[in-house]
This record gives sequence, structure tokens and C-alpha cells, in this order.
Amino acid sequence: MSKIIIAIDGYSSTGKSTIAKELAKALNYVYVDTGAMYRAITLFALEQNCIVDHEIDVKKLLGVLPMAKLRFQYNKDLGYSEMFLNEKNVEKEIRSMRVSKEVSKISVIPEVRKKLVSMQREMGDKEGVVMDGRDIGTVVFPNAELKIFMTASPDIRASRRYKELISRGENVAYEEVLKNVRERDYIDSHRASSPLVRAKDAIIFDNSDMGLKEQFERIYYYALKVIDKQKKNA
Ligand code: C5P
Repeated sequence: MSKIIIAIDGYSSTGKSTIAKELAKALNYVYVDTGAMYRAITLFALEQNCIVDHEIDVKKLLGVLPMAKLRFQYNKDLGYSEMFLNEKNVEKEIRSMRVSKEVSKISVIPEVRKKLVSMQREMGDKEGVVMDGRDIGTVVFPNAELKIFMTASPDIRASRRYKELISRGENVAYEEVLKNVRERDYIDSHRASSPLVRAKDAIIFDNSDMGLKEQFERIYYYALKVIDKQKKNA
């Protein structure tokens, strides 16, 4: 078995999903965007009125949580999977600022993490997978063969996210995006349940001054090296 698990963790808007998607395509692996799963649960919480005035009614959310059915569906025109919440394609809604503002608060809830981590483990069980998130190399797959920890300066990350939101037609200010990036980093890194920390065996990858092509080539090279070693040991 020479297919491996590749865990890509790191701060918000470091471009994890762009690289992870490319990598999965090149290796013919499954790509799983775990942030999309936390975002879909957040959208569900908003729809079920479990978040009012930015306050989360955890008890109410836990009562309805079993009703949230998530699944990914591969879109062959786009070349990646889209998130469905209770059979509705929510890909666009989950990327909005409305969801971004609440998602880190939803992600601290242990029961939410438990539900999503068990789905993620199942998805990575069968074949080669590239999974990105915050706790993939530490909690979901601590034995992943390749772990990357992505980072970049907050300003660069916010300006990348800002451009992405504007290109999608969302009306946001750069300062609002920067504030959100900083807030999510803080909550994600300081929560009690599976905080964002670098796994000891993860490669630190600062892409502040790196274009997409260079990032891809470097990480693809790491992956090929690990896969090759795996084959030799088989
Ligand atoms: O990756 P993305 O920025 O879409 O993730 C959105 C949020 O989901 C993160 O800020 C974090 O709060 C949460 N998350 C998490 N664990 C993961 C993936 C995402 O807590 N594995």
C-alpha cells in the first residue's frame, strides 16, 4: 500500500485548500476540506436560530445537531467536491463573512468536533487522502505520513481572503477581513478542545513570499519523496 495520508494544517487563509486541491488532483487522491464541514455546521446553527446576536445557544444546537447531514459531492467540472448540507449545495453560503464570523465559536464545541472528526477519519480510511484543517496532523490522523503546517503573515492572508471575497461579489472591507482572520487565529489556537498547534513532525511552510506554483512544486516534491520511501519499504 503506497498511498499515504497528507495532513495540511495551519492558520486561516494561508491557502491550504488551494494547494491541497491541486495536490490531490496530481496524485489522484481524495481531497477533504474539513473547514467546509465546520462552516456547514455553522450555517446549520444559523438556520436553526441557535446563534442570536453572535451568542451561541449550545444546548439548543446539541439538540438539533443529529439532524445536520453533511456530505461532499464531487463536481467534475470544477474538479473538486462541494459541500452539501441536508441535500442542499451550500458551497457559496459557507464561504460568506456571515459564516466566517461565527465558525470559530462553533468549532470550540467538543460534541461538534467529535461528530466531524469521526466522519473525517472514515473518509481517510480507504485510500490516499489530502485533508486540510487545524487538527488533522495532531488529532484526526496523528500517524499521517506527511504533515505540513502552513503559515503566512496576517496582512498577506487577509489580503488574499479579501480578494477572494470581492471576486465572489461579497461587499466587505479589508479591515473587517483582517479582524476576522486575527480573531479566528486566536480562538482556534487557544481553545481547549483540539487547538491549532503544529504537530511535532510537521514541516513548517511559510508561504508569505511564495507564489502558488512554487508552493505546489515544493509540497508535491515532499509528497513524492514520502510515497517513494513507502513503496521501497513495502
Ligand atoms: O479552513 P477554514 O478557514 O475554512 O476553516 C474555518 C474554521 O473552521 C476555522 O477558523 C476553525 O475555527 C474551524 N476548523 C477547525 N478544525 C478544522 C478545520 C476548521 O476548528 N479541522
